[in-house]
Amino acid sequence: MARVHNFGAGPAALPEAVLEEARHELLDWKGRGLSIMEMSHRSQAFGEIAAAAEADLRELLGIGDDYAVLFLQGGATTQFAAVPLNLVGDAPAADYVLTGSWSKKAFAEAGRFTNARIAATSEEDGWRSIPARAGWKVGDDAAYVHITPNETIGGVEYHGVPDVGAVPLVGDVSSTILSRPMAVDHYGCFYAGAQKNMGPAGVTVVGVRRDLLGRARADTPMAIDYTKQAQAGSMLNTPPCWAWYVCGLVFRQLLDGGGLEAMGRINQRKAEKLYAYLDAADFYGNPVDPAARSWMNVPFLLGRNELDAAFLSEAEEAGLHGLKGHRSVGGMRASIYNATPEAAVDALIAFLQEFAARNA
Ligand SMILES: *Cc1c(COP(=O)(O)O)cnc(C)c1O
Repeated sequence: MARVHNFGAGPAALPEAVLEEARHELLDWKGRGLSIMEMSHRSQAFGEIAAAAEADLRELLGIGDDYAVLFLQGGATTQFAAVPLNLVGDAPAADYVLTGSWSKKAFAEAGRFTNARIAATSEEDGWRSIPARAGWKVGDDAAYVHITPNETIGGVEYHGVPDVGAVPLVGDVSSTILSRPMAVDHYGCFYAGAQKNMGPAGVTVVGVRRDLLGRARADTPMAIDYTKQAQAGSMLNTPPCWAWYVCGLVFRQLLDGGGLEAMGRINQRKAEKLYAYLDAADFYGNPVDPAARSWMNVPFLLGRNELDAAFLSEAEEAGLHGLKGHRSVGGMRASIYNATPEAAVDALIAFLQEFAARNA
């Protein structure tokens, strides 16, 4: 069986060992004679799976008891609405920092539920940088400040958590969670769809400081009400059991591999290697401000964009999958999440060199 080098942006690569383990347990989970997909979420067995996954995630990220951790459905996109519904309370507004497509979507959705204001934006700059903190307009009356620590499409990442004082910080960490250590206690709330760095699509992790609970709007749908889901252990209704379980396998593997410090070192090395090659090669370019380049998503352009289609088909033939840039920006993008090993980055660089030599 030949597996490709997977550079897809999401749903993205999963660790092969995790897929093997899930396959091994698929029909008969630990001698129970049934699959996790067929098991009641109220069973003791699933309760143990769920609790272990949560405990391992708390250990990986250093999440204290002062935060609730939820495993919800609906993807990060549902959280774009859930965040204002749950966290605005009596505040008159919420502030958003726009750094690319995802923060812009989060902002637009929030505007349906609250007075969403733009604290800062890098749109005039073509989404190539993070606006300097000194220029942000954060109101004292804001319920929270929302940021997107890694913009998956533009390949722009915060390399540090901005200080927004007493106003709670909310982060859409979908494409950076677990890629390196995270300063959880700088956030009032963070959320992430699983399908980039945690597991299969279908489960969304939300971390929320408990003192921010209890202020959901009365008309908040109960399935996305953080307070109700926290009280119910994310089992107010049927949770995404299978996806939750696979995330648990990924968490355990990360812990066994030395946790997020170790993962971060590998990811930094992978990213630096790829950017170093792209910067040195005349044939390719990366438009992002070097201070804000993502460790997870590396967009790049060919010097001759009429070759894009040939590049993609030859890359596929060479076993390099998922390099097409997002339809909104074109060009190429290599997503190099945790489960894309350094050897895949090496293979990509070798292909880039060879393609440039033939077409420069
Ligand atoms: C993928 C992604 C989303 C959308 O996630 P869904 O689970 O498809 O709703 C939102 N934000 C970021 C940063 C993403 O990478």
